[in-house]
Amino acid sequence: MISNSLREEVYKCIKCGLCMNACPVYKQLYFEAASPRGKVQLIKQVIEGNLEPSDHFLDLMFTCLLCENCSVNCPSGLKVDRLMKAMRAELEEKFGLKWQKRMAFQLLRSSRLLSFAMFGGRLLGPVLASNLIKDRKFGTIPYAKIPRINRVPLMGQYPETISPKGHVSGRVLYFVGCATNYFFENVGLSVVSVLNRLGVEVIIPKDQMCCGLPIFLSGARSMAVKNILHNVEILNTHNVDTIIVDCATCGAALKKEYTNILEEMGANTDAARAVATRTQDISQFLSRFDLKKLLGPVRDRVTYHDPCHLARSQAIREDPRNLLKMIPELDFVEMEGADSCCGGGGTFQWEHPGIASSITQKKVDAIMQTGASVVASGCPGCRMQIYGNLDTELIQVVHPVELLAKAMDH
Ligand code: SF4
Ligand code: SF4
Repeated sequence: MISNSLREEVYKCIKCGLCMNACPVYKQLYFEAASPRGKVQLIKQVIEGNLEPSDHFLDLMFTCLLCENCSVNCPSGLKVDRLMKAMRAELEEKFGLKWQKRMAFQLLRSSRLLSFAMFGGRLLGPVLASNLIKDRKFGTIPYAKIPRINRVPLMGQYPETISPKGHVSGRVLYFVGCATNYFFENVGLSVVSVLNRLGVEVIIPKDQMCCGLPIFLSGARSMAVKNILHNVEILNTHNVDTIIVDCATCGAALKKEYTNILEEMGANTDAARAVATRTQDISQFLSRFDLKKLLGPVRDRVTYHDPCHLARSQAIREDPRNLLKMIPELDFVEMEGADSCCGGGGTFQWEHPGIASSITQKKVDAIMQTGASVVASGCPGCRMQIYGNLDTELIQVVHPVELLAKAMDH
């Protein structure tokens, strides 16, 4: 059930329509029920018992990127995305999940099953990609452009504690997240390398699980709770002041969503709040250091894409840009609409490839106009969506920390 406090949100809507122009989905579809305002009014009818949720209603609730642009532009402070997430949880109880999602989420709920599936994927992936599915797409992303699985998961490449050479000036916990662990090992290697060079000891709790946010955002709130409670418990057993994340979505989960979810379920939120106050995005954490003397030149033209889960969920916009601008000879150039959603939206690009590709095309056009050879972004989902839809191999998509590590290597 949607909690009472969240139900009250619907009465804040004054139907001003300011959210509509901010909504990338509405700007593609142009009908009221696809807009945030329309969705809020439909949810209100369901809450008041005037409308029975139908398949069509379900479809409308999932025709949303959860980009939070409506929420940050609402003059009444209505948390549209939070309302939508709660509604999705209610709909999942009534309609269930698509079988593909149910299967994927079972993997994300078990570290052992996920590790086994990734091992199989690493063996079979190249065969499938080169023969059976090479010309097909996963949503909008060609299979050939899906990142390769790490030969060894990142967490298997390190002991639990990685100490710097020489004086230890600090200690952090590192919540690695599935994308870095299984796909983008260079992000994790860069995080550890940069932190160690700054004298920071890194502890990677080996029993951490998927943050659970992909499960929750699809409405499977009760399935996600196992991951949430497990991660909260293991992150609180270490007496370390800072928890580092390199993934915008993991950061949003640890800083905000865990507490929201448990609160809506009427559970105790003290432990989740203790995690939230200690969590920092890597760009946020690194901003406290004077890195200039450690950085060599990187002679690339670089533009930056703001992930929704970083810019809006966590209000982090300047830290990654400032870090990039610190790198000598790096030619930083802003793209138009840097903080507009890339169109990925988790499973959105798979479920609504037509709408997603139009939104992503705008992002790709903005990137091309900058003349940049590198796009930096701190979200693995955005990275896959952007890289998967770029028509050229001449543009790299990387995490900002990878550029910092490269600059430190020079
Ligand atoms: S901006 Fe807020 S108050 Fe205005 S229509 Fe949208 S949800 Fe309602
Ligand atoms: S979260 Fe984004 S896509 Fe969804 S209704 Fe709001 S603005 Fe539109």
